[in-house]
Amino acid sequence: MQTITCDVCRKKVEDPFTNRTLFYYAQYSVCEACKDNLENQMKTTVRGKEPFSYDWYGKLVGDSLSKSVSRGR
Ligand SMILES: [Zn+2]
Repeated sequence: MQTITCDVCRKKVEDPFTNRTLFYYAQYSVCEACKDNLENQMKTTVRGKEPFSYDWYGKLVGDSLSKSVSRGR
């Protein structure tokens, strides 16, 4: 059995199913709860961004995640 630890909350995810119970962003592995959190945090920022660009989005995700990882949630 494979166990991956979420980089944000340090919770263990057993038998991770990519994009269902475990999500990969940049260099981080993120559990479902933390992914929802992250998306909620970014929602307002993303909504106001015009034009939308994936490079920008990728950077935003990386920045938000490194903040979450250093906060531990
Ligand atoms: Zn997590």
